[in-house]
Formats: sequence, structure tokens, C-alpha cells
Amino acid sequence: MNTPTHSSIAERLTAVKARIQAAEQDYERAPGSVQLLAVSKRHSVEAIREAAAAGQIAFGENYLQEAIDKRAQLSDLNLTWHFIGALQSNKTRAAAESFDWVHAIDRLKIARRLDEQRPDSLGPLQCCIQVNVSGEASKAGVSLDEVPALAHAIAQLPNLRLRGLMTLPEALTDLAEQRAGFRLLSNCQSTLIDQGLKLDTLSMGMSNDLEAAVAEGSTLVRIGTAVFGPRPESTS
Ligand SMILES: *Cc1c(COP(=O)(O)O)cnc(C)c1O
Repeated sequence: MNTPTHSSIAERLTAVKARIQAAEQDYERAPGSVQLLAVSKRHSVEAIREAAAAGQIAFGENYLQEAIDKRAQLSDLNLTWHFIGALQSNKTRAAAESFDWVHAIDRLKIARRLDEQRPDSLGPLQCCIQVNVSGEASKAGVSLDEVPALAHAIAQLPNLRLRGLMTLPEALTDLAEQRAGFRLLSNCQSTLIDQGLKLDTLSMGMSNDLEAAVAEGSTLVRIGTAVFGPRPESTS
């Protein structure tokens, strides 16, 4: 990582934004076309406050109860919350009630429950489908060939707004290999757009592969470590 561990969250945010900007330039992406989602899982509310004070608005969390507790403690701030973790069907209500976005939808049953449970007062829940581009059995997400049917079905649900696709690829260090996986997601999204779906979000890229993701059309990078530093050990 090219951000030293002793720097403040504000300094790290500046460094991450500079990386995004440099990648936009290097790969001829429009300036400002890649959003930064700060992934704050296992980091404290103080850390989130520090990031918010430095201008960060969008935060990503993986664990529902942790996220709901933090959100309650940060209710004085006007932040946007993205649920990026795996969602079990018995937890959909909490996600539908407490988040602006859900990134990791991988089956219609979950989407239908979120649609039914989304409070009218909050407006549609912004959603992405999680795709397993590497085909690893251990990774969550639908396979590329299952995406069109699921996407067209979700697009019919009135209280969800399908924004695009998300992937969490296997950890690779080679830029060309990283790009190859992201390109599969990007091509899949283009096919869906050609089929008439109005999608504008490709949620791909993390601390170690954001350049590859921006090169392949990411519109939203999910960055944890490079913003907040190493995650504290899980206490559970
Ligand atoms: C933890 C996590 C991230 C952030 O990963 P870093 O390597 O810390 O940037 C991004 N996306 C998902 C789905 C995650 O679970």
C-alpha cells in the first residue's frame, strides 16, 4: 500500500482520491466519474466522524447489527449508507429499513423481500447484483450467465432501483489479471444496457485493485484499508 500507516484518515482520504484521479486520467475516464465508497466495517464511529469531517459522505458496512448501531450514533450527520455484505433472507428487513444501497443481491428471493420490506417513506432502495466473475466456488454472487434473468426480474420490483453490478474478485496482484476479471463484469453490464436496462453503476475495485477497476469502467470503488488503515481484529 502506498499510504503510510501513521497518516491520519484525512490524509489517507486525500491520497485515495489522488489515486482515483490519477487512474481516471491514465485510463481516459471522465474526471469525477468514479465515486469513493469508504468501507468502514470494524472501524469505530470516531473513525467515521473523522472521514465525514474530511468531506466523505458515502460509507459501506458489511455487518448489519454493527452498521445499525453505528448509524444510530452518527444520526447527527447526513451520510449515505451502503450495505456491501452478504445478506441472509432473515435479515432483509433491517437492510431495507436502514440502508440507502444494497450491493450484494445474489438471488431473487432476497430482492423480493427487500422490495416488500422497503418503507415507502424512504423511496426505492438502490441495488446492485453481486456477480462471481472468477467462478470460484467459495465466492458469493451469481455466475455471469445467470445475471440477465435476475437483472430483468429485479428491474420489475417497484421499491428497488437496480443500478448495476458489483463484484468482489479473488485477490490478484497482476494488473492485467485484475483487469480481465473486471472486464467481464463491465461487458456483462453493457449487454444489460443494450437489452434496455437503465444501469449506471459498476461497483468494483478495492484498496489493492482500484486502478484496474477504474481502467475497466468502475463508477464506484469500495475502499477500506487505504482510507482507515488495517481493520481491527474481529471480536466475535
Ligand atoms: C472489506 C470490503 C471492501 C474493502 O476492502 P479493502 O481491501 O479494505 O479496501 C470492499 N468491498 C467489500 C465487499 C468488502 O467486504
